[in-house]
Amino acid sequence: MANSDCLFCRIASGEIPADIVRSDDDVVSFRDISPQAPTHILIIPRKHISSVTDLSEEDSEVMGRLFLMARDLAEEEGLTEGGYRMVVNAGADAGQTVFHIHLHLLGGRRMGWPPG
Ligand code: AMP
Ligand code: ZN
Repeated sequence: MANSDCLFCRIASGEIPADIVRSDDDVVSFRDISPQAPTHILIIPRKHISSVTDLSEEDSEVMGRLFLMARDLAEEEGLTEGGYRMVVNAGADAGQTVFHIHLHLLGGRRMGWPPG
């Protein structure tokens, strides 16, 4: 299930250190190493899934859990009232650079739209 060549699998297993915010049996979240907003947290499944493109039916529940953890972290970070953004980049044109699916939670500043 874990991929030893994958950076985020190695963060999830604890092999590579990261600023872990919360983790449970299925989901891990940690602060982005290059934050693009005052709060920038990545939320990942422990299971290695490369991208949205590779999701299967059996991943439905864990993907829901990513959103629930992001919602709770937004609350903890004090973002609920002002608002926040969740982003999933899929593939090269979207700017995906790490091919282990992840949800970006961004907040603490005003966001532009459309994204760059
Ligand atoms: P994406 O461009 O959507 O694939 O996002 C990958 C994100 O992972 C970027 O925002 C990077 O800054 C972040 N990142 C890369 N390496 C690490 C790391 N070792 N720890 C935390 N975040 C990382
Ligand atoms: Zn992985």
